[in-house]
Amino acid sequence: MRKQIVVANWKMNNSPTQSSQLCSLILSKMRPTDKEVIIAPSYLYLNSVVATTQNSIIKVAAQNCHQEISGAYTGEVSASMLADLGLDYVILGHSERRYYYGEDNSLLAKKVSSALSQGLKVIYCCGETLDQRISGAHLDRITKQLTEGLFHLPAKAMKNIVIGYEPIWAVGTGITATSAQAQEMHAHIRSALSDKYGADVAHDTSILYGGSCTPSNAKELFAQKDVDGGLIGGASLNADDFLAIVNA
Ligand code: PEP
Repeated sequence: MRKQIVVANWKMNNSPTQSSQLCSLILSKMRPTDKEVIIAPSYLYLNSVVATTQNSIIKVAAQNCHQEISGAYTGEVSASMLADLGLDYVILGHSERRYYYGEDNSLLAKKVSSALSQGLKVIYCCGETLDQRISGAHLDRITKQLTEGLFHLPAKAMKNIVIGYEPIWAVGTGITATSAQAQEMHAHIRSALSDKYGADVAHDTSILYGGSCTPSNAKELFAQKDVDGGLIGGASLNADDFLAIVNA
């Protein structure tokens, strides 16, 4: 049975103090839930968030990792380092990584394999631009990102994969996909999973929506049959807003 998951992607935000206060506030205000709640702080704050959330139901994710396990890659962080910190997840393929750092599907395929080899679970993001959506190329775009970045994996690895659908035109813009647009794409992703791995894997894989998700639109988005939760950017920087989304 697939899980319902809500991820707080803090991106490059918060000071050390803000980060630990926000984490403590989320912990103290969170009601018991059967959802999986994941916080993805900056690399620098991973240690403190892991320590604060120990023995809680909150899991911790990194926002990226390098594709190699070790070596002369100045400034980089490997999946094995993240696993050593006790993390559960790493986000890969976020549209900001694809756009600002030129991460393409073939590089992401290597990062995905590297993360899984170290025992991390992967939140693999995909999404289309507004032009691709307007021209009707959006479904094919997502299929390509899945095929080239993820579908090299064997079926048994898919239990450690969560998919984040994040239309680029909705990320950080205040524009949200309609629930019908989200459902259409999530159903498309599930059908691509089914074509590649069969109905069981498709049924059991959590597919999250991301893109200006807020307390006011989360309920309707999450009510869609194939939407299993959310990847939250801006609204995750406020404990009350984030928890309202978790509770939605
Ligand atoms: C994100 O970056 O993952 C995201 C969904 O951002 P926002 O919620 O701010 O659109």
